[in-house]
Amino acid sequence: AKVLVTGANGFIAVWVVRRLLEAGYTVRGTVRSADKGTHLRELFKSYGDKLELVVVPDITAEGAFDEAVKGIDLVEHTASPFTYKADTPDGENILSVATPGICSCGIVFADLIVPAVKGTVRILESIKKNASDIPCERSPSVKRVVLTASVASVVNPFLPGPVCTYDESCWNDPTVEFVEKNPKDSPSPLWYLASKTLGEKAAWDFMEKNKSAINFDLVVLNPPYVYGPTLHEVNSPTKLNQSLLEVYEFVIKSKDTQPIPDGANAYVDVRDLADAHVLSAQKAEAGGNRIIVSGGSYHWQDILDIAAASKIVDDDKLVKGTPGSGAGKGKNLTFKTDRSDKLLGLKWTSLEDSIKDSLASFKEKNFI
Ligand code: NDP
Repeated sequence: AKVLVTGANGFIAVWVVRRLLEAGYTVRGTVRSADKGTHLRELFKSYGDKLELVVVPDITAEGAFDEAVKGIDLVEHTASPFTYKADTPDGENILSVATPGICSCGIVFADLIVPAVKGTVRILESIKKNASDIPCERSPSVKRVVLTASVASVVNPFLPGPVCTYDESCWNDPTVEFVEKNPKDSPSPLWYLASKTLGEKAAWDFMEKNKSAINFDLVVLNPPYVYGPTLHEVNSPTKLNQSLLEVYEFVIKSKDTQPIPDGANAYVDVRDLADAHVLSAQKAEAGGNRIIVSGGSYHWQDILDIAAASKIVDDDKLVKGTPGSGAGKGKNLTFKTDRSDKLLGLKWTSLEDSIKDSLASFKEKNFI
């Protein structure tokens, strides 16, 4: 079978491509420009023509994926911006750009909301269109789409805490309402949370509205922070993807060091998440589900302690915090993984291994 992976050069996507190739699939990856494919070609050259790369310069454009979906059986849609450093919103109503079909690009926080929502809708539209273009004697093309969503669309960051437990019935509507009402006072992370919530909602909405006209189903994966080794191209710490950038900025002493956040967080290892993408494409019973994929919870102090004990980084380059003070605090946040356990049956890489392998990647790249 042939799998389309959008945003194939990203931190998570390169692992997804690798796991798909290892499983014997043929992969077509989309990148925004030809040069973004160079590293991928080199990395996977032993797979020869099992990996094909196509350029989709603007995932928000009408018909963006019309060519890319031709001859494809399965889609892994990962392309979406994850950054906390987006431009300041200009105060317009975000829903006017976030509603599929009536968006006019570049109005509000275009860097985040528009690609998250429109990119998702565009891929679904192209699949629908392509299937309807195929003569009936040939089998319709894409059977399943796996969307890389996030727990950003599950959590409610306004809950007073300290103990929060989430499952797939939870939706982050409060953040969408907040940024809509307070566009100028919403910090970047909230805009990211809103972008992922609106992006996922747009996907389910499309599936519902088009159910009688489409031949594919949807699986949505909702991971928390993703850590682990890097395969993608990164030439400096500041160019790290958001989740690993945070590991770098909280753990490694540098001019960019940031104080660790207080409060619980959750993680999943990138290799487990890549496995989840492959399994989600394969398991018939996964269809129609959003699935939380979380390896567990932690407090940032736990990560500082893992880094110190690992000896991967010279001691004088590490932020120490207050060793041991994170103990038990991670338990204040729980993502239930019953659905993932049942449908995907993954075993989670430990936080310790995930962080150690993240640090080993930093070292390998001479970032520390
Ligand atoms: P990366 O930044 O490493 O990769 C993002 C990918 O999306 C890149 O291929 C990037 O292309 C592409 N992309 C970003 N913005 C746009 C845009 N405006 N138009 C077209 N393509 C775009 O991030 P991750 O691998 O970490 O994230 C991948 C997905 O996983 C995202 O959907 C993210 O929301 C989600 N996710 C990530 C988590 C994490 O902790 N890392 C946690 C939960 C969800 P280019 O290189 O050209 O910019």
